[in-house]
Amino acid sequence: MQPVTFRCACCRRMRPRNPRVKNQRYCGDKRCQQARKTKWEREKLQADPYYRINKKECQERWKQKNPDYWQQYRQSHPEYRKRNRRMQHQRDQRTRDGNESGTDHLVKMDALDSFLDDTTESYFICPARMDLAKMDALEVKIIPISPG
Ligand SMILES: [Zn+2]
Repeated sequence: MQPVTFRCACCRRMRPRNPRVKNQRYCGDKRCQQARKTKWEREKLQADPYYRINKKECQERWKQKNPDYWQQYRQSHPEYRKRNRRMQHQRDQRTRDGNESGTDHLVKMDALDSFLDDTTESYFICPARMDLAKMDALEVKIIPISPG
């Protein structure tokens, strides 16, 4: 019999356990669930090169099909632009130091994470083999969850 409460790995509060979740480490708070997914994805990205390539391709294709979307997003979100500049600066520095670790896509994905509320779900609708019909489905999915 498991204890009825546990300490959330994100917010560190004692929370009631969800009996449907095995080995629960995160509570149901939106913020904590987001942290769980981000962590899961980061580990997955490191462990699984196919996942990495697939996700990158998926994003690239979506970006190509929605060039205006990102332009408009950047224009209406100065914070995002600032963050991007800072990230780019860090990337430049790494490249200069000859210490390019190949994590550029991770940086980009972090930016995407903060933009899409739930990238894990967004990811799962990316097909393993890309075709245009499915990418259309992806657009439909992404657009409604984007912040206005
Ligand atoms: Zn929590």
